[in-house]
Amino acid sequence: MASAKRLKKQSRIRERLAEIVGTENVDASTSGRLVYSYDATPNYQSLPDFVVSPRSAEETAQVLKLCNDTGTPVYSRGSGTNLCADTCPAKGGVVLLLKHLNKILEIDRENLTITVQPGVITKTISETVEREGLFYPPDPSSMKISTIGGNISENSGGLRGLKYGVTRDYVMALQVALPNGELIRTGGKLTKDVAGYDLTRLFVGSEGTLGVITEATLKLIPKPESKKTILALYQDIESAGRSVSAIIAHKMIPVTLEFLDQDTLRAVEDFAHIGLPTEAKAILLIVQDGPEEIVERDIQKIAEICRSEHAVDVRLAASDEEAEQLATARRTALSALARLKPTTILEDATVPRSEIAKMVRAITDIAEKYQVRISTFGHAGDGNLHPTCLTDARNHEEMQRVEKAFAAIFEKAIELGGTLTGEHGIGMTKAPYLKWKLGETGISIMKGIKKAIDPNGIMNPGKVFAENSVERTSVERAVAAE
Ligand SMILES: Cc1cc2nc3c(=O)[nH]c(=O)nc-3n(C[C@H](O)[C@H](O)[C@H](O)COP(=O)(O)OP(=O)(O)OC[C@H]3O[C@@H](n4cnc5c(N)ncnc54)[C@H](O)[C@@H]3O)c2cc1C
Repeated sequence: MASAKRLKKQSRIRERLAEIVGTENVDASTSGRLVYSYDATPNYQSLPDFVVSPRSAEETAQVLKLCNDTGTPVYSRGSGTNLCADTCPAKGGVVLLLKHLNKILEIDRENLTITVQPGVITKTISETVEREGLFYPPDPSSMKISTIGGNISENSGGLRGLKYGVTRDYVMALQVALPNGELIRTGGKLTKDVAGYDLTRLFVGSEGTLGVITEATLKLIPKPESKKTILALYQDIESAGRSVSAIIAHKMIPVTLEFLDQDTLRAVEDFAHIGLPTEAKAILLIVQDGPEEIVERDIQKIAEICRSEHAVDVRLAASDEEAEQLATARRTALSALARLKPTTILEDATVPRSEIAKMVRAITDIAEKYQVRISTFGHAGDGNLHPTCLTDARNHEEMQRVEKAFAAIFEKAIELGGTLTGEHGIGMTKAPYLKWKLGETGISIMKGIKKAIDPNGIMNPGKVFAENSVERTSVERAVAAE
């Protein structure tokens, strides 16, 4: 039972929150809190005390100050599509919804930038600038629903990452609300700027643990003139892996170089019904863009390389519509796999691309060793694989084997010179493993930075830095404890 003292404090905080953002923007109902008790990560759930939706940067800063003064945890939330339990309100407190901050503020055609509020949906940014002949390349598969604030905070990547880089490469300036209630601006519309530490980059990928992004200025580039797509089919996974390394070794950098194993391919075809070659053991989806003659030359060369690495078939998409259909089908891979079993756990172990074939083989061996079902797809061109376990969280014995299999996958990725996550972030799911990547000194430097900005530890507590235990919080227990 919650103590009378705690209830009184909660009620005071609620009143103050309502004064700042308006009563209609503070939700303390059980149903409202349940909706924001989890995100796209299976099996992590915890109830917040309040769901609060500020209407401006200033209100956001005031909410943070109140939370800082009262020791109330804050979890910034875009669309909640992250896959590392990063918006799970693990310690109660305030879920801060950025839904009202959803305006495109400016398109600057001279400096080639767009300035947006954090709640703008990523696809809206892409479509808006493409109508102007401009291009915003980062395209996470979740771009139809994820927000730019979430993309920046996770440093999200996408299908076009190989050639164009990730969200980090397009963030030029930020406005950030800090826990002490101050609003700061970092960076600017400048290509060159070396004034002090790069605070913009510090906030990119910080997973909501340092402050709340309330505005972002993003770099745009001219829209590529043309693009072509091919599918290369393989009867063994190693040949697909070797093709990836060979394409890059031949100094070809396609926009997209995606890998799907047979399990994923079948699930996607079953979902999308576009005639994907489900008889293949693995496929590569390859896209090149740029001036027409260069695209033509590159695609021919890439097809040749795939054939010499034993692709059994290489197919060119007949039209832009077919190419778009293929890319869209690839984007549905996670949703398609999620239909097969009650629980889908997707990770994003990443290795140097030269090690792709070894990593794919290791994942298969690990799945066999622990007797779990793992399908693999991902951004092969940048070594970013998504081994995806199809399981059932109600089977506790199997879940233990799943955890062990993922620990083995992370260990292997690091052994091959890779990392725990290429784009999804650390959050709660990978916090226990972060020291494998950074070492104790790396972790303590990061903790020092966190302390300097968020001394009371109110911003997204329980994430990135592992505590003694990463016990999963069940909502039944949380409700019962109230
Ligand atoms: C089907 C599917 C496909 C996906 N494909 C990809 C992919 O291809 N590439 C990829 O990188 N990811 C992918 N993801 C993961 C996810 O979509 C990304 O991490 C995305 O950036 C999250 O955006 P969001 O708006 O949902 O953020 P949320 O999940 O709401 O939040 C993510 C993190 O950002 C923080 N945050 C959100 N807004 C702010 C803000 N304004 N200020 C400070 N912190 C903030 C949160 O606290 C949290 O730590 C996929 C997820 C799904 C479900």
